[in-house]
Amino acid sequence: MVNPIVKFGDPVLGREAEPVTEFDTPELHKFLEDMFESMYAAKGVGLAAPQIGFARKIAVIDTSNGENPKEKLVLINPKVLRVEGRQEGEEGCLSIPGFREQVRRGKRVTVRARNAKGEEFEMTGEDLLARAFLHEIDHLYGRLYITHISALKRDLMKRKIKKMQRAGDWD
Ligand SMILES: [Zn+2]
Repeated sequence: MVNPIVKFGDPVLGREAEPVTEFDTPELHKFLEDMFESMYAAKGVGLAAPQIGFARKIAVIDTSNGENPKEKLVLINPKVLRVEGRQEGEEGCLSIPGFREQVRRGKRVTVRARNAKGEEFEMTGEDLLARAFLHEIDHLYGRLYITHISALKRDLMKRKIKKMQRAGDWD
């Protein structure tokens, strides 16, 4: 099932999500399927559970845009273990459609997480995957990528969004 993406302004995007405590349940597997479907429908490379209104520490990533099943990643209760190097690049968010900004991120990022069965694993990603790790894990702590841009750019963006909200173009 494709779920609608929650947009900036919804409080669920601004608070830390709860950790998952039950693994390998039919509900969790179904939820993960829905997350991938919702992400592909929105043409994203990553999606965090709060973005479909569910405040749990779950994120899915697929930097191949559905081209390569091996790139499908599930991160449950993830933590960033290491950030190395730097990369500059444009970043957007499905919850802030229509905007993109330059964001400096680590180039190589190691995370520790659990999979759908509850098994713990560690993984290192570079470039786009490193960026996706940091972006999605930020979501699980109530942080959006705009916390990493200048206050000036952020205020400008917020003003534009307010205008769209008033015009009814932001639901
Ligand atoms: Zn996002």
